[in-house]
Amino acid sequence: MIAPGGRVNLEHGGGGMQAGELVKEVFIRRFSNSIINRLEDSAVIDLKDDTRRIAFTTDSFVVNPPFFKGGDIGKLSVCGTVNDLAAIGAQPRCLTFAAIIEEGYPIDDLEKIVQSAADTASLCGVEIVAGDTKVVQKGAADKIFINTSGIGIVPDGISISCSGAVPGDKVIVSGPVGDHGCAVMLSRQDFGLKAEINSDCAPLNAMVSTLLKVCGHDIHAMRDPTRGGLAAVLNEMVQQSRTGILVHEDLIPVRKEVKAVCDILGLEPLYMACEGRMVIVASSQASQLVLDTLKKSEYGADAAIIGEITQKPQARVLLKTLVGGVRILDMPSAGLLPRIC
Ligand code: MG
Repeated sequence: MIAPGGRVNLEHGGGGMQAGELVKEVFIRRFSNSIINRLEDSAVIDLKDDTRRIAFTTDSFVVNPPFFKGGDIGKLSVCGTVNDLAAIGAQPRCLTFAAIIEEGYPIDDLEKIVQSAADTASLCGVEIVAGDTKVVQKGAADKIFINTSGIGIVPDGISISCSGAVPGDKVIVSGPVGDHGCAVMLSRQDFGLKAEINSDCAPLNAMVSTLLKVCGHDIHAMRDPTRGGLAAVLNEMVQQSRTGILVHEDLIPVRKEVKAVCDILGLEPLYMACEGRMVIVASSQASQLVLDTLKKSEYGADAAIIGEITQKPQARVLLKTLVGGVRILDMPSAGLLPRIC
């Protein structure tokens, strides 16, 4: 609940329960309409007199530091919006790019960031067609913040929604989880830890597009596990589809370096952000084909089937642990790392 007279705190930006409450109670309630109320990664807009459907989304990026192992805020800001379009099955067409820059920020770094955004966009086959720049006094923003918005086209016959998961479906993740969160955290050098972990930051539109061509009708739900990680996405899926999920800890791919860093810091890889992964819910009969198709793509080599959609318990994610017990995998609540994306 958002308490009257309260203040915004860091947990409200964490992608977990508090973030969900803030979005629903402050924003969605006031903007309420049939499109935004669906709570998807991108809005799908029906054009009257036109059979095509437009997907539209926006995202802001405040990652600290702006340069981290495996990426930077420029690449991230393109991938984030492209992946949100891909998650509802849309083919991204064009983006906007707006930067809020703190006075004194080095032009060289700014150029590197913009070049990285341009390179990533061309890799995705999208154009950055509009933008904006604001400079604020020193201290009024931290280094650089970026917002990107994106438009895509949803191919005919494709209907993907987090509410589309049905009991019996398989849950698939396109690669190891937690790399991005760990890489950014290590780049801050707050902990004196050194590990070879690169962010997984990558555009997934080509992978998803191939997947939809091969088995489009069998893909029921998709979402990219960014803030709040795999656990947040699985919880959003069971809430929106009124189903349950059982995932098997031994099947969830986690790099041993990520596991080691999380163990030392008391963190849980399943709650760590990814920026180049997709969680896919597909019909059971197509799940092997989905997996084989992912494994052949550039960013899906380590994809795995990690669990299944169940009828009960509704709106709950259950985790079968390595030792054979079963526990609830909750929505992340507090203590998440701020400014991870
Ligand atoms: Mg998303």
